[in-house]
Amino acid sequence: MKEYASVSACDLTTMHCGGTIATLYEPETKEELASLLGSLDSFVVIGGGSNMIFSDGLITTAVIRLGKTFSSVSIEGHALHAEAAAPLKELLQYCLENGRSGLEFLSGIPGTLGGALAMNAGTPDKGIMDAVLEVEYVDAEGIHVVKRDVIPYGYRHGGLDSHAVVTSARLSVQPGVPEEIAAAMQSYFLKKKNQPRGFSSGSMFRNPPGFAAGHLIEQTGLKGLQIGGAKISEVHANFIINDGNATTADIRSLLQTIKERVKERFGIELQEEVKIIDERL
Ligand SMILES: Cc1cc2nc3c(=O)[nH]c(=O)nc-3n(C[C@H](O)[C@H](O)[C@H](O)COP(=O)(O)OP(=O)(O)OC[C@H]3O[C@@H](n4cnc5c(N)ncnc54)[C@H](O)[C@@H]3O)c2cc1C
Repeated sequence: MKEYASVSACDLTTMHCGGTIATLYEPETKEELASLLGSLDSFVVIGGGSNMIFSDGLITTAVIRLGKTFSSVSIEGHALHAEAAAPLKELLQYCLENGRSGLEFLSGIPGTLGGALAMNAGTPDKGIMDAVLEVEYVDAEGIHVVKRDVIPYGYRHGGLDSHAVVTSARLSVQPGVPEEIAAAMQSYFLKKKNQPRGFSSGSMFRNPPGFAAGHLIEQTGLKGLQIGGAKISEVHANFIINDGNATTADIRSLLQTIKERVKERFGIELQEEVKIIDERL
């Protein structure tokens, strides 16, 4: 297992903010992972860091990132077997090259399979858990495999135990025509083309039932508001963009302002989609 001391959270997240992670563990086998989990009081797992930000200052909570050995992707009959550190982009490329359809809606979403499963990432009406057959995870007791029908997943919520680290999944895919798969991926990809550019974590808030969080924020007139190096995007009000100098405190202040204004105006309590990791875990 690799172990790194004093790792900058900026380098691990797409928002590029946050303090210093005291210890980053990178297990390379499931056995190493299980024994690590057994030795830690608390921990947080990171995938591609595209939906996570860390607090400023020193982060003493142990951070685990699966090693590159957890990146294989293969086809097993009508299922795709993929390990959790596999980037979604590579997983989709594999589907395209092998003529497998069913996951095109994930096109353009950054991060890894593990993060996508934990977040049930996808489009507003479809998440990756809809395509899952079973998930393998490791906790302090060892290695477990669960079928999807016993996982209580929902919108942007994978329903997996927060004391567990997902190591792989089997996903339902069907044989397809490569040209049609490529066209479907491209159409999902193009829908994201108008998203704001720059350092971000994607959508900061979950959509409340029946509403689009971005639309609610836009109606409060907060688009463009800047605190320190963090700004509510002019392009999409549910995005906060880091100009390269934002602290996590700047981002938190914007999130708080947004929540207060949306609550005042619409009586709706927005909930963060982004995971903010701090010492109050
Ligand atoms: C520009 C941009 C666009 C985006 N567009 C979309 C979109 O269209 N749809 C969408 O759903 N999301 C979107 N996102 C958000 C994000 O990309 C997804 O949530 C993604 O699936 C997160 O994957 P990750 O590997 O980066 O996870 P991370 O950000 O590293 O982690 C996210 C959560 O998953 C947990 N986690 C990570 N790996 C594991 C593991 N192996 N086992 C257990 N838990 C784990 C973490 O602890 C954390 O709670 C976007 C983000 C950006 C920056």
